[in-house]
Amino acid sequence: MKTEILGLRFDAMTMAQAQAAAEALIDAGAGGYIVTANPEILLAAREDPAYFGAIDAADLVLADGVGVLHAARILGKALPERVSGSDLVPRLLREMAAKGRSVFLYGAKPGVADRAAHVLEKEYPGLRMAGTENGYIRDETELWRALDREQPDLLLVALGAPKQELWMAANRGRTKALMIGVGGLLDVFSGDVPRAPEAWRRSGLEWLYRTIKQPQRIRRVLKLPQILVLAAKEHILHSGDKA
Ligand code: UDP
Repeated sequence: MKTEILGLRFDAMTMAQAQAAAEALIDAGAGGYIVTANPEILLAAREDPAYFGAIDAADLVLADGVGVLHAARILGKALPERVSGSDLVPRLLREMAAKGRSVFLYGAKPGVADRAAHVLEKEYPGLRMAGTENGYIRDETELWRALDREQPDLLLVALGAPKQELWMAANRGRTKALMIGVGGLLDVFSGDVPRAPEAWRRSGLEWLYRTIKQPQRIRRVLKLPQILVLAAKEHILHSGDKA
């Protein structure tokens, strides 16, 4: 079921439902892509029709971040829980390892995807590494040669927003792999960027932890109050209509 939040249509799913839906897409082997949309992505999509189209055409649009959930609540809409890429992807990899499936890592600075691949191979025995490519290549010939040869089941696209969503939309149909835009997740898998401790994550404070570790992220954090204000405005306008 789709739930519209500030113009963007989200799939109102729990983590377990999102995992099952993503696994069904992987099993189908028909390509497609998943967007995990945070407040930054939501705001950018409102301002750029091409970007909006890339997100709206995704097979799944998942609510990444407490900001989106709060905005939904203000609007009186139901999104069951936060489904971030950094929580969803490890679950998928565990299942894929059990089935001997393969994953390709595309994105991040040179060396990061290779280091992430080593870590993931150790962490998920049985998972097949189909290859890696850094996210700063100009020519994608080699990348596509590798993807066509290896035919991975899953392609993690770590180019950051909006580049990764635009890339996935432009390349839908070119690969049978399910694509997921994962932002800085390869930097986390490789160990270059630390993940917030479990307790912080459980309390929805990962954003705070990451901002303390990488203060340059503060601009993103400020998008959170921005979408709450937009949601409140829309709610007030809407209740005005009804009165
Ligand atoms: N990146 C990339 N190519 C680019 C721009 C960014 O591979 O042209 C990578 C960057 O190295 C980082 C990721 O995309 O690994 C973006 O990380 P960020 O923390 O900005 O994403 P978030 O997780 O916040 O969406």
